[in-house]
Amino acid sequence: DTADVPLVVRGLRKVYADGFAAVNGVDYRVERGQVVGLLGPNGAGKTTSLRVLMGLLQPSDGEIRVFGHRVTPGAPVLSRLGALVEGPGLLPHLSGMDNLRLFWRATGRPESEARLDEVVRIADLGERIHRKVRTYSHGMKQRIAIAQAMLGMPELLVLDEPTDGLDPPQIAEMRRVLHDYASDGRAVLVSSHLLAEVEQTCSHVVVMSRGRVVGTGEVKDVIGSGGRLEDAFLEL
Ligand code: ATP
Repeated sequence: DTADVPLVVRGLRKVYADGFAAVNGVDYRVERGQVVGLLGPNGAGKTTSLRVLMGLLQPSDGEIRVFGHRVTPGAPVLSRLGALVEGPGLLPHLSGMDNLRLFWRATGRPESEARLDEVVRIADLGERIHRKVRTYSHGMKQRIAIAQAMLGMPELLVLDEPTDGLDPPQIAEMRRVLHDYASDGRAVLVSSHLLAEVEQTCSHVVVMSRGRVVGTGEVKDVIGSGGRLEDAFLEL
């Protein structure tokens, strides 16, 4: 029974029209409380998997279940899944708070000051939220964009390369934000092509290489121990 599991991926395959199997039989799970890194070099199939997960692409085989519900293209977007797949699309001359308010209104949901405050706290935006976006660091912009994805408080939050281009202090902040978000029984799945970023931000990791999963587990067991899975990644 997968009704209470944020994400179950089973036997997932995606063969593109040219016959290339970008995802070639992938299985993994994301449990509540976990921050899972989907790690692999460029071309490993991470973006293809995330697009199938979001219902943007029809899988060739296998299935994806979010809290037991099968994800299929054309089906209504699951309200328990929230995602950020593109970089920040923010209005630079407005404050971070105004950007969040506009985004929230665009979803058609009733405005909630309590929810805005909660997200500002979790995303660690502080007083800077009232300054104009054009004055923000890249890390702050990333966290505002992630705050947008958090506004609906999805139980499964999916982020594509959220640590891309961040410096070490910003990555440490991102770790706190993601773990804080997941600590309440929610779950986070992030993609990355950098071993160090996943090591620094995630509790668990799914290592992909050439369309397959070559290792899964707790970050401390998979990465940095000099073990077999790290070798598998480094050999690519
Ligand atoms: P990146 O970090 O560069 O996005 P990735 O791990 O996300 O890498 P994918 O974007 O999923 O990898 O791509 C996996 C493979 O599938 C790549 O070799 C890519 O060239 C190929 N691919 C992606 N889209 C298509 C398409 N529409 N048709 C054919 N091949 C594709």
